[in-house]
Amino acid sequence: MFEKILIANRGEIALRIQRACRELGIKTVVVHSTADTEAKYVKLADESVCIGPPASSGSYLNIPAIISAAEVTDAEAIHPGYGFLSENAGFAERVEKSGFVFIGPRPETIALMGDKVSAKDAMKAAGVPCVPGSEGALPDDPKEIVKIARAIGYPVIIKAAGGGGGRGMRVVHTEAALNNAVNMTRAEAGAAFGNPVVYMEKYLENPRHIEIQILADSFKNAVYLGERDCSMQRRHQKVIEEAPAPEVNRRLIAKVGERCAEACRKINYRGAGTFEFLFENDEFYFIEMNTRVQVEHPVTEQVTGIDIVQAQIRIAAGEKLWFRQRDVVLKGHAIECRINAEDPYKFTPSPGNILSYHPPGGPGIRVDTHIYQGYTIPPHYDSMIGKVIAYGDTRDQAIRRMRIALSEMVVEGIKTNIPLHQELMHDARFIEGGANIHYLEEKLAAKDEATKGK
Ligand code: ADP
Repeated sequence: MFEKILIANRGEIALRIQRACRELGIKTVVVHSTADTEAKYVKLADESVCIGPPASSGSYLNIPAIISAAEVTDAEAIHPGYGFLSENAGFAERVEKSGFVFIGPRPETIALMGDKVSAKDAMKAAGVPCVPGSEGALPDDPKEIVKIARAIGYPVIIKAAGGGGGRGMRVVHTEAALNNAVNMTRAEAGAAFGNPVVYMEKYLENPRHIEIQILADSFKNAVYLGERDCSMQRRHQKVIEEAPAPEVNRRLIAKVGERCAEACRKINYRGAGTFEFLFENDEFYFIEMNTRVQVEHPVTEQVTGIDIVQAQIRIAAGEKLWFRQRDVVLKGHAIECRINAEDPYKFTPSPGNILSYHPPGGPGIRVDTHIYQGYTIPPHYDSMIGKVIAYGDTRDQAIRRMRIALSEMVVEGIKTNIPLHQELMHDARFIEGGANIHYLEEKLAAKDEATKGK
């Protein structure tokens, strides 16, 4: 096992990784920007290295500075967390070439999955069900593009091969609008991702977002840890996640989960990963794979009892998977609410000083956050400041516990989206379970209309 790991991230996930390391008896080095000097996880780490200014480009995305920090502190491995450099194949390669272990898949795998066209090709070849669409990238000839769209059937969605974060997508409802949309998406993708390649998919009108968590070792052993339903989204950003997905046939999950595990064996996948699917009319359609730990990993940890971050570390250290598929047993239900420092209805960020903080507690409640009373949330980064996870024997119990937790939780000095979560925990459609990816957006729009009328 490693003696020392460098954590190349910030916020709640930096603390989460530290906790995993400490339990495994591993020392930690945290790198941070000048804006994060006072952060709790920086003080809690065995060592810390300031690597640059607040802007991520000079710090959390500064590859040479991170590698130097690992060198001067004698770290053996680097955990990239999520976001920042976590899915950057070039970073993973530099880490390994510099003699450190990258806690994640091989650089080639990250590159393969980072290009959505090659990812879809690989998944199709591995027998994972995909959204019907173009065979790879769209050709230049507009007439060919029209033919492809006709074969798929409208509406279609044009997507950037290099896209991410919900950007670089355009829905097309009519043939008249097709080629213009393709050209615009190409131009935008070229500017935003440095890659103008686009592809086409059938646009599914009312899907749910359901994803499969997998773990694979370096010896072609792979298991799936069940699924998460992340359909409560705003602007393609997840707001609430839960495991298991309500009202989905368990045999169907097992079938697609086994396909995902098999795909991992085929592409020599290593580490933790997530296969994201759209789910409509009892069918799963692969959209992309995330080759890192996800924000919502705790709901899977709560229902399986498996520590995913520790598993990442143990796999990176060369351990063989220590359990088999039949040992993965889902028990109970877990729900996660992402707590953001933002106006709960206007969604404008609300960084600043936390004047008082009282975390919730009690049976089944887990809080993953780095905030504390007196902490100042810097304005430079993502607005997520933590996660409340409620576990119960049943979904109903998890919802009840979440309501209590949210009512106990006090964060003063800044605005948070706790009121929105409280409302959603009493929302009839959420309580019923199985709402689609448009539900939250439609609910918020209806609310907006209602307040405008007043
Ligand atoms: P990103 O990497 O930017 O997150 P994804 O491919 O994961 O892109 O898609 C993000 C979201 O866009 C999905 O969760 C879904 O809401 C929507 N989306 C993507 N592809 C389709 C599709 N074929 N039909 C309907 N919605 C889609």
